[in-house]
This record gives sequence, C-alpha cells and structure tokens, in this order.
Amino acid sequence: DKEYVGFATLPNQVHRKSVKKGFDFTLMVAGESGLGKSTLVNSLFLTDLYKDRKLLNAEERITQTVEITKHTVDIEEKGVKLKLTIVDTPGFGDAVNNTECWKSVADYIDQQFEQYFRDESGLNRKNIQDNRVHCCLYFISPFGHGLRPLDVEFMKALHEKVNIVPILAKADTLTPNELNSMSLPLFWFDFKQQIHDSIPFAVIGSNTVVEAKGKRVRGRLYPWGIVEVENSAHCDFVKLRNMLVRTHMQDLKDVTRETHYENYRAHCIQSMTR
Ligand code: GDP
Ligand code: MG
Repeated sequence: DKEYVGFATLPNQVHRKSVKKGFDFTLMVAGESGLGKSTLVNSLFLTDLYKDRKLLNAEERITQTVEITKHTVDIEEKGVKLKLTIVDTPGFGDAVNNTECWKSVADYIDQQFEQYFRDESGLNRKNIQDNRVHCCLYFISPFGHGLRPLDVEFMKALHEKVNIVPILAKADTLTPNELNSMSLPLFWFDFKQQIHDSIPFAVIGSNTVVEAKGKRVRGRLYPWGIVEVENSAHCDFVKLRNMLVRTHMQDLKDVTRETHYENYRAHCIQSMTR
C-alpha cells in the first residue's frame, strides 16, 4: 500500500490557478546536531534527502562552522505537484564557541529576501526564483528541561524574519509526565495564533519500517514495544505534517510574504532614502 504525505488537498488552500503550476515550499530545520532533524524531514516527506551524506568524525564536527545546505525535491501526489526545498543547518550548537551561532541562519534568510527584492525590482519579474524561507522547524532538546540560553537567543534573533515552529525532538525519550512539564514561553511565535494549542510539536522520527500488530509502519523498536511515528497517540508527527501541508502551507507563505518580507523590504527602502 502506498503512503501519502497529503498535500493533494493543497488546492483547497488556494485559488485553482496555482494547481497547474504546482506549489513550492521552503522549509528550514535548525537546532543542535543529533536531534533528529534530517530523520524528521525525511519521514515527513517520505523521501531520502540525505542518502549521499558522509558521516563526519567528531573532530571534524567540532571545528566545523555552521554550513547551510539546500535540497530540492519534486514530489507529486494525485496530480498535485510540490517542489519542496529543505534548508538544513547542520552542526548548529556544536561548535566550541556558540555565541551568535544563529547569525549565519539569520544571514541566510536575509540573503534570500535580498535576492527576491533585487529580482522584484529588476526587468524580468515574471520568472523570479523564490527562495524565501517559509517556515523554520526549531528543534529543542528533550534532555534540557526546557529552553536553553542558546535556544532563546536563536528565537529572539529570528522570530521577526521567519515563521518558527518549535519542535520537541525525540519525544520517545521522555515520559508523558516529562513531556507535560516542559513549558515553553510562546511570545516569539508570530505564527502562534493558529497553532497555539499544538505548540510545541513533540515528535518522533524514523525511517525504519517495523511491524506492529501485523501492520508495517514507520517506527522505533524498543525492548518494551514499538513507538509508531504516524500514530497520534504516540506523538505529534501527523499533526505537524497536517499543519505544514494540509492546513497551513499557504498561511505560512502568506505570513512570509506579507509580514517578514515586507518588514525586510521596508527596512531596505528606509535605508536607501536616508
Ligand atoms: P540531525 O543531526 O539533527 O540531523 O539528526 P539525525 O537525523 O542525523 O539523527 C541523529 C540520530 O538520532 C540518528 O541515530 C537517528 O536515528 C536518531 N533519531 C532521529 N530521530 C529520533 C527520534 O525521534 N527518537 C530517537 N530516539 N532517536 C532518533
Ligand atoms: Mg542533519
């Protein structure tokens, strides 16, 4: 049986005209390394984005600065096309000196705005390649009992540039009580109104298929049982994916365009006329 991501319902979110052209969406993942970012985006879109990656040894990791990588995949479901771009920020929080480690992420987001601003003011405005980041999944460690200073710094610096959706990583390593006692201050999330009750999304990622009650599902195998990625009783994976592709993709794009990009643009114009 074929698995579906579910974006075939996208036409309901927007005018039919866009259906033929297809949709594009740029999703960024950020947070410390080893929290399951790559695994989750793979699980979300059922595609192995990272099959070519090389494993870095510990030494390389420590000296590595934040290096941003971009993967684009074209996926199609029930005749609806989605061009998905994943922007990964590997190694974030790994370096010895983490001060301003959010800076390169912020710069990346600004550069995409800048490019768009330039293209928009140019002659060929019809076929602008839009690389603006529509959403940033920010991974929070399950081992830190809440936000660490680094997390706070990141969100303070970025929340006016991009829609941040906080993700509580590796939720399978926490007991339900521990999960409930994790409280996150929400004032950074401009996008919070619509998804307030769901924040943070406590997720489990896995690209392994296991057998649960005779059914083959994606999950993680433990001596005491199986956690199923796509079982809503086990984690918020399905809720997150539904929010991203079924219900809020267009909202995320609208807020990016109307709020974050407009802010950037106003800023640019202001500094040009001073
Ligand atoms: P990244 O550095 O944030 O991209 O993390 P990876 O996706 O490379 O995952 C790091 C390790 O954590 C891998 O061994 C994964 O199999 C494991 N992992 C990923 N997601 C989960 C999860 O939800 N729960 C648990 N327990 N392990 C996970
Ligand atoms: Mg990774």
